[in-house]
Amino acid sequence: MTLMKGSMLYEGKAKKIFETVDPDRVIQYFKDDATAFNAQKKGTIVEKGVVNNKVSEKLFRLLDAGGVPTHFIERLNDREMLTKKVRIVPIEVVVRNIIAGSLAKRLGLKEGEAIAPPIVEFYYKHDALGDPLITEEHIRLLNLAEPAMVGQIKELAFTINRILTPFFQERNMILVDFKLEFGRHKGRLILADEISPDTCRFWDQKTKESMDKDRFRKDLGKIEEAYQEVLKRVCG
Ligand code: UDP
Repeated sequence: MTLMKGSMLYEGKAKKIFETVDPDRVIQYFKDDATAFNAQKKGTIVEKGVVNNKVSEKLFRLLDAGGVPTHFIERLNDREMLTKKVRIVPIEVVVRNIIAGSLAKRLGLKEGEAIAPPIVEFYYKHDALGDPLITEEHIRLLNLAEPAMVGQIKELAFTINRILTPFFQERNMILVDFKLEFGRHKGRLILADEISPDTCRFWDQKTKESMDKDRFRKDLGKIEEAYQEVLKRVCG
């Protein structure tokens, strides 16, 4: 399908957003640019944009089928998907099944231990502040979302986790944790952004090796190979 791509509305660290002739729809373009540690570390992961676009498509379709409203409409080509235009809720919603990353560091916990039941955390999407961890009270204080919407976000986050966890298990991957972003579209809350090896931690079931952006963050090597392996297991 060809679609008139309008001017760029926004450029983020890993994606660009373009307008279309339809004011309710935008095109999400996935770049190969990679950043970590609040953009202090920068690099390129070859073909990452293609992997993230296709993996996100697959997972958005899976979630849609499971009753989770998402911004996904259709994938246009290797690096672009057509999505509903949203106003992003400036909260990064993290769901955790296994202790890793900032949680291990902040609370002095051992990486790799199961978290049962899973937990949800909120981070304030604010680059200059370094995306701080916030509570529901802070969300109210900052007026980032109505309390009822926060409840809805939490419920959706757990539902998404219940859908994604077995999906990855069947592909010999452990879904350790992941980050979600939601948006408002025509007054409704829907899942937005992407779900990809950039925004999730996946460990190989057998070797427990990272198959995600941690390979870039921690200079573990074989970064492109890991992204391609995720594509193969998810979309293969
Ligand atoms: N995450 C993300 N964007 C961010 C921060 C975190 O997509 O700006 C994802 C990250 O890939 C992981 C989860 O959210 O799957 C939890 O990340 P964590 O809080 O452990 O932070 P990190 O250790 O990545 O700094």
